[in-house]
Amino acid sequence: MSTETLEFQAEARQLLQLMVHSIYSNKDIFLRELISNASDALDKLRLAALTDDELTAEDLHIEVVADAEARTLTVRDNGIGMARDEVVTLIGTIAKSGTADLLRRMKENKDKDSAELIGQFGVGFYSTFMVADRVTLVTRKAGEQTGTRWESAGEGTYTIEEAADVATGTSVTVHLRPKDEEDALYDYTDEWKIKEIVKRYSDFISFPILLVKAAAEPKAEGDDESPAAPETLNSMKALWARPRSDVKDEEYAEFYRHISHDWTDPLEIIQMRAEGTFEYEALLFIPSRAPHDLFQRDGARGIQLYVKRVFIMDDSRELMPDYLRFVKGVVDAADLSLNISREILQQDRHIQMIRRRLAKKVLSTIKDLMTKDAEKYATFWREFGRAVKEGLLSEQDDQKAILDVSSFASTASADPTTLADYVSRMKDGQDEIYYMTGESRAQVENSPHMEAFQAKGYEVLLLTDPVDEIWVEAVPEYDGKKLQSIARGNVDLSADEDKPSQEKTGEFAPLLTWLGETLDEVKEVRLTSRLTTSPACLVSDANDITPTLEKMYKAMGQDVPPVKRILELNPDHPLVTGLRDAYAGRAEDPALPETAELLYGTALLAEGGDLADPARFAKLLADRLARTV
Ligand code: ADP
Repeated sequence: MSTETLEFQAEARQLLQLMVHSIYSNKDIFLRELISNASDALDKLRLAALTDDELTAEDLHIEVVADAEARTLTVRDNGIGMARDEVVTLIGTIAKSGTADLLRRMKENKDKDSAELIGQFGVGFYSTFMVADRVTLVTRKAGEQTGTRWESAGEGTYTIEEAADVATGTSVTVHLRPKDEEDALYDYTDEWKIKEIVKRYSDFISFPILLVKAAAEPKAEGDDESPAAPETLNSMKALWARPRSDVKDEEYAEFYRHISHDWTDPLEIIQMRAEGTFEYEALLFIPSRAPHDLFQRDGARGIQLYVKRVFIMDDSRELMPDYLRFVKGVVDAADLSLNISREILQQDRHIQMIRRRLAKKVLSTIKDLMTKDAEKYATFWREFGRAVKEGLLSEQDDQKAILDVSSFASTASADPTTLADYVSRMKDGQDEIYYMTGESRAQVENSPHMEAFQAKGYEVLLLTDPVDEIWVEAVPEYDGKKLQSIARGNVDLSADEDKPSQEKTGEFAPLLTWLGETLDEVKEVRLTSRLTTSPACLVSDANDITPTLEKMYKAMGQDVPPVKRILELNPDHPLVTGLRDAYAGRAEDPALPETAELLYGTALLAEGGDLADPARFAKLLADRLARTV
């Protein structure tokens, strides 16, 4: 049998470096990670044995073997194990998306945030190198004959070889660093230390975790003293089945960390129980920050499905609508088959019902946060608001409930506002909720469309998330008030006496007609009451897509036919009245079409738009300025 020496993948090597030169002060967690992996491996074998007659899943358990003399700690499971190739890919590389990004961010802020970032990412097995100078992993995949032995000092390479006489499952031996090398290192072979760690982090693990004393010297013949029965360290109680009052917050937090691979505490814990025709229990967590892959299509989802305490599957998308994909937790359904497949889940009526109930419960929990703990709600909305708003598009039935827990930036204050609060502040006679979409608060706030609204004291919502462009199309109203973009369609804010009179409109008619013919870029030119200081602005027709949406579609590689917009003029602005008079007096003046172009270009720039030919615009402007200096 030959031993091969292989190199860790570059990213794995970098992550290992961080572990070896440990960045995190709480080194105890390496044991939690090993037990967590062992528990997953046992779950996997139990599941596989349900459908594969060749496999048996009996006496599933985890052993922790401490050897003080050799200074080793071994975590052993009789779970699914790994084949040689799996060891290479699962242990030697990091397949998770976002690794490169994570490492870059860690380099950028070396200090305290690194631990958080790494926690969010979940380093699992590699955390052993915080305490070890060498780690040995021996494994045999269930159903296979030969085993594999893997070993590394965490530096750039590892060795891998075939191993005979290996039991099914995996055994990881951590060769602890010398005690005096580092102050922060406990003696992890110490019984009380192991007990403490297991109790604190892994009590809820549903398989027995047994403490096994390392075998002493081989016993003399005839000495039939049998070894002491191993001690079970964990209670194995399913947290979701215990009354909330019996469980410490810290226990929930540890369970949350086990299922989420997050490092921090959850923001909120939700427990549910339904009895009757279809029984289930659920324990859900709202995290306190968004995972790095929240907006990636293949990002991890958070709900685990159990049937009567038996783990069935991770990542059950059927149990939570996509817009709440950040919610983590467990659903334990009493009446499903242990063999249930994803395909069946998708069609199961009960599952759909559970999903609706869970979603409602999450929304009502957020609503409670809003009224009872404004700070937590603000954290929630900052981290997950963008995802939640997607629900306005996908879940017609929940639109109202989603709007009720949403908040939006507004011209009224630096802090976001709810729609209910907006409505309570609406002015007498105002019957629409005004909003404007755009790319940033500053851009929207300073756009010419805002002028009359600001001047007359109307509050406008500032919607600057990409998803805002889309959901506003799908939500017609809130509380009987229509949502109205201030950059679309006709907006009339003027009191009757301020409206452009018939006479005034008549005066401008020739100019408007001429501008419409001269400017190919627009489909109509008209007077408006929405401007107070700017000469002109561009608005979209009520049913046309907005420029930001057009940009988004283009960025996604979709072809969108160019949409012409409407040029609106401020009849009180000297540039507009001047142009009206100039056109009346000298319609043939070749300078006039250039003025029209400048007027249009200025309106486009003012809203943050891109000129089709900036060089030409700059030249026209420079020529014009040259005549006025
Ligand atoms: P994570 O647990 O976050 O996926 P790890 O680095 O801890 O990351 O483990 C990587 C993978 O190696 C696991 O997803 C699993 O497939 C495999 N693995 C780790 N430990 C075991 C084990 N005890 N038994 C079987 N497979 C394991």
